[in-house]
Amino acid sequence: MKRILVTGGAGFLGSHLCERLLNDGNDVICLDNFFTGCKANVLHLMNRPYFEIIRHDVINPIFLEVDEIYNLACPASPIHYQHNAIKTVKTSVMGTINMLGLAKRVGAKILQASTSEVYGDPQVHPQPESYWGNVNPIGPRACYDEGKRCAETLCMSYHQQNRVRIKIARIFNTYGSRMSPNDGRVVSNFITQALQGNDLTIYGNGQQTRSFLYVDDLVEAMVRLMNTGDEITGPVNIGNPEENSILELAQLIIQLTGSASQIACRELPLDDPTQRKPDISLAKALLHGWEPSMSLTKGLAITIDYFKNIKSHR
Ligand code: NAD
Ligand code: UDP
Repeated sequence: MKRILVTGGAGFLGSHLCERLLNDGNDVICLDNFFTGCKANVLHLMNRPYFEIIRHDVINPIFLEVDEIYNLACPASPIHYQHNAIKTVKTSVMGTINMLGLAKRVGAKILQASTSEVYGDPQVHPQPESYWGNVNPIGPRACYDEGKRCAETLCMSYHQQNRVRIKIARIFNTYGSRMSPNDGRVVSNFITQALQGNDLTIYGNGQQTRSFLYVDDLVEAMVRLMNTGDEITGPVNIGNPEENSILELAQLIIQLTGSASQIACRELPLDDPTQRKPDISLAKALLHGWEPSMSLTKGLAITIDYFKNIKSHR
């Protein structure tokens, strides 16, 4: 039985990962400061004997004995990570140093949750891992983008200098149950708005694109990446190569909810990327043919059901 630490384990992605790792027969420690995560996300795991929760902030060191670390602690939606930009940078930089230091001390393997945001507003499309990105280092998204870029640098440096076994997952927009309804992300906003009969707020003209991955497909890829051989260290894109405009997403959510909501355009936030689509050739090659298995229509239908019943979940 492996003892596995999941930082940010009470968040959207972390809670699904904890559940999967427990179901695989591991001993799971969920570490979280509950900034954007909540106990409700892991309530259903609390009576499992091999699950424990630690309230802790990753910007402070912690001494634990573990075999593997999934480092997910970091607010992920623009309104959350911009709420306290300095704290966001500290979480990515100091938090990742602390987790890499822990990995080094105990000889654990560590997987860093990086992001497609390292590509910024990409001028290469779709984005392969070899693309260095187009990030504004002083813009409103910089605390997140640059923090995550620095976290990747730290991972590579600890690997090269201290032989820490590292994995870097560059995660593209992921959606599913346990997204926070008020996190301002496009999927949660649109579903909430459609269910309440409010206008769906499209920022800009809705022609910007994203590629949406269902949470179970992401978790599968993360676990497979962690289990690759020690020679695999560089970043790997984990995302859905199917690309949709934000307008298409709004129309699909209106259709799936059967809502009478209309679409209303709002100002596009500064530095909002115009396009995003992963090249997943590397993931397919390294992760035993991994590719997304959930269609957007079905994944959204499941997520809409979750949001309908959210009061009983939280
Ligand atoms: P989330 O906000 O639901 O989860 C983040 C979790 O980290 C929360 O539980 C939060 O309380 C915790 N946290 C934040 N700062 C912390 C700190 N200083 N110490 C301890 N815990 C802290 O977001 P998510 O969507 O589940 O994202 C999880 C990870 O995946 C993040 O690192 C994010 O950058 C990355 N990611 C997510 C997406 C996506 O589409 N969801 C895309 C790319 C990357
Ligand atoms: N977006 C939108 N309406 C909303 C929320 C977001 O049109 O109510 C747009 C946003 O401007 C961006 C895209 O949807 O172009 C994805 O936004 P999100 O915050 O979910 O993710 P990110 O921009 O970090 O990829």
